[in-house]
Amino acid sequence: MAHKFTFYNTLNRKVEEFSPREEGKVSMYTCGPTVYHYAHIGNIRTYIMQDVLIKALEYAGYDVKRVMNITDVGHLSSDADTGEDKMLAGAKREHKTVMEIAKFYTDAFFKDFDAVGNKRPDVVEPATNCIPEFINMVQVLLDKGFAYTAGGNVYFDTSKLKDYYVFSSEVEKEELQVGVRDDVEEDTNKRNKTDFVLWFTKSKFEDQALKWDSPWGVGYPGWHIECSCISMKHLGEYIDIHCGGVDNIFPHHTNEIAQSESYLGHEWCKYWFHSNHLNDRVGKMSKSKGAVLTVSVLKEKGYDPLVYRFFCLQSHYRKPLEFSFEALDNVAGVYNKLVKRVAELKPEGQVDETVKKQFEDAFSDAVCGDLNTSMAITVLYDALKADTNDATKLALVENFDKVLSLDLLGHAKALGEGNEVDPELEAYILDAISRRAEAKKAKDFATADAIRAELLEKGVEIKDTREGVKWQLI
Ligand code: AMP
Ligand code: ZN
Repeated sequence: MAHKFTFYNTLNRKVEEFSPREEGKVSMYTCGPTVYHYAHIGNIRTYIMQDVLIKALEYAGYDVKRVMNITDVGHLSSDADTGEDKMLAGAKREHKTVMEIAKFYTDAFFKDFDAVGNKRPDVVEPATNCIPEFINMVQVLLDKGFAYTAGGNVYFDTSKLKDYYVFSSEVEKEELQVGVRDDVEEDTNKRNKTDFVLWFTKSKFEDQALKWDSPWGVGYPGWHIECSCISMKHLGEYIDIHCGGVDNIFPHHTNEIAQSESYLGHEWCKYWFHSNHLNDRVGKMSKSKGAVLTVSVLKEKGYDPLVYRFFCLQSHYRKPLEFSFEALDNVAGVYNKLVKRVAELKPEGQVDETVKKQFEDAFSDAVCGDLNTSMAITVLYDALKADTNDATKLALVENFDKVLSLDLLGHAKALGEGNEVDPELEAYILDAISRRAEAKKAKDFATADAIRAELLEKGVEIKDTREGVKWQLI
């Protein structure tokens, strides 16, 4: 039996208990990157929080299958199907082909995705691999009367739905309607302002690089159709959880639901998980703004990518997070101290299963309770402070890292290796410690203090702990 698991379901606008269709199994779809530019650290925040969601579900006892698309066609500069194809703009900017751009930025994306400790999805599928599936879905939508052709393009007819704005409260609906009305670039082919393109054969730019034959003429798919089709191709007619950033809620996920449920004739996905944005001081981080701050750039500046992950884990996924280098520096300091503490643990004693279970339960409650990652980190600190032996603490650090993926043990080991002392110095330290113990026993505290000072002068700090004297190089 999996542990009780809750998170915020955008569809019902509340924190809900998760219950998958098939016991113990989770099918999950996540919107992938648009590969016309580097993924910035904001995009990566979204993928870190999704990774934590998956690992927390696994920690709770679920078996998760996750599919992700790579958007390499059809995403226009406005999510409302206007402007230029982002991929084409990227290719022009760099005087390369769209395919070269897609390959380059997909590789760059995964380099940063991996560096922050994320597990790769089980399936990654570029949109351009699935053109026959898109054509099939568009055809079915036309046959069922949910779509129409106009001016050479195929559109989804949102007036055919009882409730198009599925994610929005009544107030939000009104705001969205005003927003849609005020959208500057109007497509006169649309019967309703909210209709969206399923297949383009005509657009303002004639030099679209990627084109395919279709029953409606040579063209290319709209952006939203890819996620519905790729999800169904690998996960079937139902999925349990669909993930994305909050900017995906409207119009992208709203449109995905419209076309998927019209195509299927039943509910498609029960739980929608959205994580909030990373902002810099001037607002939302965005690829289209030009210079982008990436995980690789952070690395070049000397930051460990896992420090960025730690930074993200300290705040809740539903809150906007403001990035600054000062904040990251602070977190780097905290992370290094944490690694040092873990490095001090010696694999001594037998794991105390009762204590271990107690902390694991507290950790489960945190991560399975709407992904309370900062609480999970507090549990980690509590475990390190606990009145138990080092073997138990090490086992807990290893266990929690299944979800946190901060590689604390790996970093601690590296720190230990970096600090390897030469045997002569070590012999001297051990001798000094035993001389100090004897002095203390003889109540000769002056000598004991002098030995401590002598060690300190040589860069060795000693600490009296319940498990005996510990030393470290400073
Ligand atoms: P894109 O490559 O633009 O399609 O975005 C990839 C993912 O990053 C999507 O799920 C977006 O919702 C998400 N995203 C975009 N901007 C941000 C941001 N500033 N902070 C966090 N996530 C973002
Ligand atoms: Zn998507």
